[in-house]
Amino acid sequence: MAQTSDIYGNTRLAPGDMERLAARVVTSGDRSSIGVETPITESEIGSVPACTAADVATAVDRARGAQPEWAATPVESRVAVLERFGDLVFDHRDDLLDTVQLETGKVRQDALEELLDIPSTCSYYGSNGPTELADSERSGLIPLATTATVSYDPVGVVGVISPWNYPLTLSFTDAIPALLAGNAVVCKPDERTPFVALALAELLEEAGLPEGVFQVVTGEGAVAGPALIDAVDYVVFTGGTETGRTVAERAGRNLIDCSLELGGKNPMVVLDDADVGTAARGAVTGAFTNAGQLCLAPERIYVDEDRYDDFLDAFVGATRELSLGHSFSYGPDVGSLISADHLESVRESVDSAVEAGASLFSGGRARPDVGPCFYEPTILTDVAPDSRIICEETFGPVVSVVPVSDADEAVERANDTAYGLNGSVWTGDLDRGRDIARRIDCGTVCLNDPYAVGWAAVDAPMGGIGDSGLGRRHGPEGINRFVESKTIATSRIGPFDSPPWLPHGVAARLLSGFGAVQRRLTRWLR
Ligand code: NAD
Repeated sequence: MAQTSDIYGNTRLAPGDMERLAARVVTSGDRSSIGVETPITESEIGSVPACTAADVATAVDRARGAQPEWAATPVESRVAVLERFGDLVFDHRDDLLDTVQLETGKVRQDALEELLDIPSTCSYYGSNGPTELADSERSGLIPLATTATVSYDPVGVVGVISPWNYPLTLSFTDAIPALLAGNAVVCKPDERTPFVALALAELLEEAGLPEGVFQVVTGEGAVAGPALIDAVDYVVFTGGTETGRTVAERAGRNLIDCSLELGGKNPMVVLDDADVGTAARGAVTGAFTNAGQLCLAPERIYVDEDRYDDFLDAFVGATRELSLGHSFSYGPDVGSLISADHLESVRESVDSAVEAGASLFSGGRARPDVGPCFYEPTILTDVAPDSRIICEETFGPVVSVVPVSDADEAVERANDTAYGLNGSVWTGDLDRGRDIARRIDCGTVCLNDPYAVGWAAVDAPMGGIGDSGLGRRHGPEGINRFVESKTIATSRIGPFDSPPWLPHGVAARLLSGFGAVQRRLTRWLR
């Protein structure tokens, strides 16, 4: 690994900024450090402590100490802190974009896309969260005589384990509703991208969040991750499916709830009545945003055979126009992959597909002339339905295009996977598109857009089925997972049993009669 690079010269940052951020991580002794490289040049941009299990447990203890006072703060004040945080993220966008670009090698517009998610999530939960958290009145068995009130208490301390591909959004999009619900949060970002989470933690504090309520622990996933799951009351995990299984197992053993946002092998379905130009433009955005390192990105495109040639021409043409590169200003279309190891895994997937008979229509090469971890946007055809490139997530700028005879075959192929995260349908007839969308087995299906219309609908739940995960983020579901409901049931007529002087047989007849009347009344009122 090269030493701290002069890449900082192109940013608004200096190595001292990373040192300041790393110093936010609290450890209970001297710890070894983990070097963080920028994939743009593979040089070190800083380092963070390798927290031990004991450090993680201590951070959760601190969070547990700070949480009750935060939970007792009126919800309007919690909203105000989070809305201020959203504003601060927007105001500090230049430094934050530099930080996330340094860590990930992504292009600036991809970094902006994730940054803008934070103010929007703060506004959404600021407006809708209090209603979700308010007590609700439910029916008792005997109207007027009995009542039930449900209150929603924070679960306590929420652990957030986030990945490297969208380290800014995915460390905070779940933390925001968790905090609003009165929880403390301890976040463990991926070891390759810890700085942006630390930078946002600093802004949360500036926004007025009390000390200890949000903390970041850094360290190896296999050490800090399990330690976090052992200490918290709920865990949100975003990452790979195999890691997700171990997270679920551990959460299950600890009897805590979890949501798992995992991988995908997302289908895009282009129907015979689709506008081919629009679908091609959508395919380019969907498959190559963030250099394809997007869990929602289409990796399989099923095109009606009548539109196949036109679609492929338009898609290949638009893909060849994409520019590959790096700049801390807006410019290049497609950025770097996260690491040389990941580049190798993408290259291996494409090479083995080509060896098995796939045809390359665009890309298919690493680009060391642009940077050490760049790979060209790649389009494959002639791929076998059971090949690795069709069945396994590539998580790079690689997509396969497959002709299908009709919509039924497209749906069948789209559903021929263990994953179920995000799909899209492209059509000129939105009613028909919605019908097809209902038949696609994914947590989200977008019409005439590859993914953003679904993600940006913060009011609507998002998540996966099958190997793509458990639970939902966004919408009411995205905050309700962070509370425990508590029912307070009241009787105005004393204990719910028959008086001691009433023979059991008579009481049973009265109770049965009451039950029958009550059922009829309920049906009549329905
Ligand atoms: P990963 O599973 O290796 O790592 C994700 C996080 O888990 C990191 O913070 C890592 O340090 C931590 N971790 C590693 N081992 C752990 C363990 N044993 N216990 C607990 N935590 C551990 O994920 P990755 O491969 O680096 O990330 C890419 C994957 O994430 C892709 O599969 C992608 O589809 C998925 N992803 C899903 C979503 C979604 O919303 N569904 C979003 C982004 C990424």
